[in-house]
Amino acid sequence: MSAPHREVPIARRADDPIATTRRVLVGCLTVGLVSVLAITVLRWSDPLVRWTFPVLAVVLALYIWLLLRRPQVLQRVSQVVLVGLDLLWLAMLGARLSTPPAQGGGWASLFPTVFMGLALFVVIGYVVFRTRTAGVHAGAVVLAVLVVGPVGLISEPRDTEHILDLVRYGIYLGVLAAMLHVLSRSKEQAARAFQAARTASAEAASMREMAFRDALTGVANRRRLEEELVFQARLVDAGVPVALVYLDLDRFKEVNDTLGHDAGDQVLVTVARVLERGLRSGDLVARLGGEEFVAVTPGVDLAAAEDTAERLRSSLPGAIEAEVGVPVTASVGVTMLRPGEAPLRVIARADALMYEAKRAGRNRVVADTGIHDH
Ligand code: GH3
Ligand code: MG
Ligand code: MG
Repeated sequence: MSAPHREVPIARRADDPIATTRRVLVGCLTVGLVSVLAITVLRWSDPLVRWTFPVLAVVLALYIWLLLRRPQVLQRVSQVVLVGLDLLWLAMLGARLSTPPAQGGGWASLFPTVFMGLALFVVIGYVVFRTRTAGVHAGAVVLAVLVVGPVGLISEPRDTEHILDLVRYGIYLGVLAAMLHVLSRSKEQAARAFQAARTASAEAASMREMAFRDALTGVANRRRLEEELVFQARLVDAGVPVALVYLDLDRFKEVNDTLGHDAGDQVLVTVARVLERGLRSGDLVARLGGEEFVAVTPGVDLAAAEDTAERLRSSLPGAIEAEVGVPVTASVGVTMLRPGEAPLRVIARADALMYEAKRAGRNRVVADTGIHDH
């Protein structure tokens, strides 16, 4: 039987962003690896290619393996690899500039491909770093491009055309980085907002949970019981009966007076456990307050509810004696919920039946025979 309050399950994330990032990276790196291998084979005669590209190929292959086999280190490895590639790029640049043009080096040999890869570095920076770090990384890359210009000018003062190209490229990279930065920041803000919403929703659920629970015994409280009764009163009919079992401990004040309040509390917790264990999972156990408990059992007719009440009543003293050394008994009233009936009304009827059990000598069950209409 469903209860009026069901915890709304927090929606599962539609896709794992880490897994998506990983797939994208593996794809990019595979393309990169194939290109590097192709260039290595085609330009084996170039000493710079011969010395740097095989290293690059090994790094890329290793990285792809790590991504596939050790995804948990994805971010760290990505960061290290990216910085490694940055440095490798700088080293290659330095080597090219210090090689005479006759041997395939010099300023002109840097164009156009050497600088093009930098855009990819900037993009990957925003994938593997947090926005702020990625910004610093992109800034360093743009700065490297703009600094290489004057350096080139010193080595080849007449080559203004390439210097201009380089400045344009630096600006292009700067604009790209700025756009990525804005996107990355909004992505981070959205992620933070999403996280905050999840936390707030979990907190609301736990506060709601607390608002409907009895602090001492952990069973439902009176508010929750009344809600459940309103809900059940809408569903109840001859085909789907709902029984109410009202239980009040006998001479509980004496337990407190002789054994102390803590032992009294222990008795109340024991009663809650006995009721929970003795009922089905769809039933509701609530503590009304003091030493009064109510169980709502849907799908149970009066005779069955009376049997249940009798079973609970007879098992209670033994369970309590095992805890505090004294067999505390209970008086129980059993009645049926009527269609559309107000919670206070049915509780009052069950209370009156319980009171009859008290008057009849306590430690007994009195069921509603229909003649006790209030
Ligand atoms: P009766 O058989 O007529 O029900 O007698 P009783 O002593 O159980 O009835 P009464 O209503 O006079 O006493 C209820 C006692 O329950 C009074 C109070 O000290 C005790 N009580 C109420 N709430 C708590 C609680 O949270 N913890 C403990 N230890 N005792 C409580
Ligand atoms: Mg009482
Ligand atoms: Mg009592």
